Amino acid sequence: MPGFEVFGEEEKKEILEVLETGVLFRYEFPEQRKGVWKVKSFEEKFAAYCGAKYGQAVTSGTAALKVALAVLGVGPGDEVITQSFTFVATWEAILDIGAVPIFAEVDETLNMDPADLAKKITAKTKAIIPVHMMGGAARIEEIVAIADQHKIPVIEDTAQAAGARLNGKGLGTFGKLGTFSFDAVKTMTCGEGGMIITDDENLWRQMSEYHDHGHDHVQNPGGRGGEGRSFVGFNYRMMELQGAIGLAQLAKLDSMIATQKQHKVRLKAAAAKIPGLTFRHEMDESGENATFFSFFLPTKEKALAVNEVLKAEGCGAIYFAGNTWHYYPKWEHLLGGKTLAASGWPFTSHDKRRVVYDPAALPKSAAIIDRLLVFQVPIKLSEERLTQICAALEKAAAAV
Ligand SMILES: *Cc1c(COP(=O)(O)O)cnc(C)c1O
Repeated sequence: MPGFEVFGEEEKKEILEVLETGVLFRYEFPEQRKGVWKVKSFEEKFAAYCGAKYGQAVTSGTAALKVALAVLGVGPGDEVITQSFTFVATWEAILDIGAVPIFAEVDETLNMDPADLAKKITAKTKAIIPVHMMGGAARIEEIVAIADQHKIPVIEDTAQAAGARLNGKGLGTFGKLGTFSFDAVKTMTCGEGGMIITDDENLWRQMSEYHDHGHDHVQNPGGRGGEGRSFVGFNYRMMELQGAIGLAQLAKLDSMIATQKQHKVRLKAAAAKIPGLTFRHEMDESGENATFFSFFLPTKEKALAVNEVLKAEGCGAIYFAGNTWHYYPKWEHLLGGKTLAASGWPFTSHDKRRVVYDPAALPKSAAIIDRLLVFQVPIKLSEERLTQICAALEKAAAAV
């Protein structure tokens, strides 16, 4: 699955170009950097690859979500709808901006259920964040259509879906803004890092300012110290070494995905022999990035039984219903409103918790996630290991 598997000479060469100038920083040092602007070039190339006009690099995928929410004007008291199956980062960013995360059900795309989204929109909803989990598209066109009816902007959390498309159009380009992560486990990595893409020049300018302490980046005789500012910001700057790695990884992205797809075809064929098994609903199988292979059994008991056989063969699958980082009922710190702030912020305003989360509030998601098994699809997968996993799947088919 992750780009770190193919870290090699190309990344080293890019990094060396930065080290030779000694300019580790995204801004300034025009003479010393000898024309080397790795982050800037990574932003331009990544945006173009996805089919967007602008890219803004930041320090992480979580920062990307935070910056996206900030430039949409989201703040305390607002509600932001996301989905029950995602990484904690999605709602951490919503909380960090002071807003209230509201959770919609997922369907068999393993992403946001548009019908449930429509039910959860209120006058307070100021943004919607569907997630393209595990490299496969959400029902993004339907979601954007619902959001448009209510004039609510959509941020696509595309952290897990770099390089994925829906009918030829890059994920992350359907909503107002699309966010990406380049952390250790993502399809391509910079060590750490994130990106926001958009076609909206004004939003892009605001992101460029907000992520850099409000610096307006307008040329002036005083240099960086003489730059103006229109609003308060923060520091989410990416450094040149990350940009350098990003450029090398981006150049490999299509080939990484192509290899994963070949591996996935083999796994799918072996799994298909398990009675009653169904596959994740793919919106566009040829467009997904094949970082994961997901399937359902008819019942929770069957899913657990199949996984017992797989485990006994040394090939256990991920059972997300038992995973504490990606699934709503398992987020006890969120459900319990646990925070370091003595005031209870961001869960409280006026000393009262604004939303009390019921672990049983999302039964449709539970009925889906409880039956789900998932394999990561590595890039470097030996024929031996692949054969072993396929044999384990066939053994499971015979046992259940
Ligand atoms: C990884 C991830 C993020 C956060 O990315 P970081 O770079 O680790 O901050 C956000 N959303 C989803 C769905 C992710 O998987």
